[in-house]
Amino acid sequence: MKNRISGRTRVCGIFGYPVEHSFSPAMHNAAFSALGLNFVYVPFLVEPDNLSAAVEAVKTLGLTGVNVTIPHKQAVLPLLDETTEAAAVIGAVNTIVNQSGRLLGDNTDGKGFLRALEEKTGFTPTGKTILILGAGGAARAVAVQLALAGVKKVFLTNRSRERAELLAALLADKTTAVVEVVSWPGGKKNQRLVEMLRGIELVVQTTPIGMYPDEGSALSLPDGIFRPGQIVCDLIYNPVETLFLKNARRAGATAINGLGMLLYQGVLAFELWTGVAAPVGVMRQALADSIYSHAPHR
Ligand code: NAP
Repeated sequence: MKNRISGRTRVCGIFGYPVEHSFSPAMHNAAFSALGLNFVYVPFLVEPDNLSAAVEAVKTLGLTGVNVTIPHKQAVLPLLDETTEAAAVIGAVNTIVNQSGRLLGDNTDGKGFLRALEEKTGFTPTGKTILILGAGGAARAVAVQLALAGVKKVFLTNRSRERAELLAALLADKTTAVVEVVSWPGGKKNQRLVEMLRGIELVVQTTPIGMYPDEGSALSLPDGIFRPGQIVCDLIYNPVETLFLKNARRAGATAINGLGMLLYQGVLAFELWTGVAAPVGVMRQALADSIYSHAPHR
């Protein structure tokens, strides 16, 4: 069924700057159509100086909820009435729910990552030892969520060590995980890194290295880190398989790209706004169609 705008149509959307690259409108509108829900999802180009007014407009215009993307994910936090534990610890919001005029901020990025991981591999975080490569916004969401879900030990590494130290301090302060910062791969310390990282059950690559149109680049880890039985995720979804993931798969690990995280952060937002189970297959197809029909991929 096609979306038909009427006097009862409920409006969701995304605040970003820029916003035109977003795949979320295609994903959510396909889901509303599939379930025959009288909802629409639109992109809103919100300049940083206008964020506060835009958030106020969620209330004054009666929007059902919005996603928030770069560069607003952190700045929006103090503008909300309430935030979930995950959003507060991560320090970033990607989903706002308008609860009769009170704005709740959540972060479904890390939760979406976990849902995708569980769905694909049956991975359960409790008691596990993991390695996270990178320490930016996506790394923070994933690391916090995994630590809140019971991961035992987190190794962190980042090109600029200070940022990894900041994330380590956050995890140590707000979660029960044991955290250790290790050197960024490369150079003479690699052998020691391999020894330290023996037994890692999950590796998550969160940097943009190897992302389209730079698919020829790869973050190379020393031989011996990837192994059969291990799960290796790259948050990149274009190309479908980065060189990093290819190397992991060749070493016998289970390799997973970032499409599932993108999908499930949307699934969770959809369910918060509509209160009904999301049509996951429809959303996955809409995402894949819009991502892979617009840019070359492998
Ligand atoms: P960000 O906050 O800008 O952080 C970027 C991270 O990558 C930092 O740790 C940075 O290290 C590192 N980095 C960047 N270029 C590098 C290079 N050439 N060599 C080594 N390290 C480098 O970005 P983000 O929001 O975390 O996004 C990171 C990636 O995750 C992007 O590829 C994005 O598309 C992907 N992502 C995917 C999803 C999904 O749903 N699948 C969601 C969010 C993000 P420094 O601190 O040293 O600069």
